[in-house]
Amino acid sequence: MTQEEWDRFEKGEEERRKRQKIKRKAISTVRKAIKEGKLVRPIQCENCHKENNLEAHHWSYLPQYWLDIFWLCVKCHRKLQDYTQNIIQNTVKPNLPL
Ligand SMILES: [Zn+2]
Repeated sequence: MTQEEWDRFEKGEEERRKRQKIKRKAISTVRKAIKEGKLVRPIQCENCHKENNLEAHHWSYLPQYWLDIFWLCVKCHRKLQDYTQNIIQNTVKPNLPL
């Protein structure tokens, strides 16, 4: 591995760690809001309307959108995650249904 390749690799790792940190913060913010009663976990998936164990989906990880989430079943969540993978600074909320 050349120095240049190594530097690129390190930069990629650093970015990945930064993304992970932001994602963890967004998730803990949701958890806290639920605990404090500011956010209510619904019963139905916002995409397919099936009743299931819902997960919070962040369509953007910009701090102002940390509580602007979609409540999705696991299946729909995976679908939307594929679509938004690694893009953490979306500014346009996707339309549902997917
Ligand atoms: Zn669903």
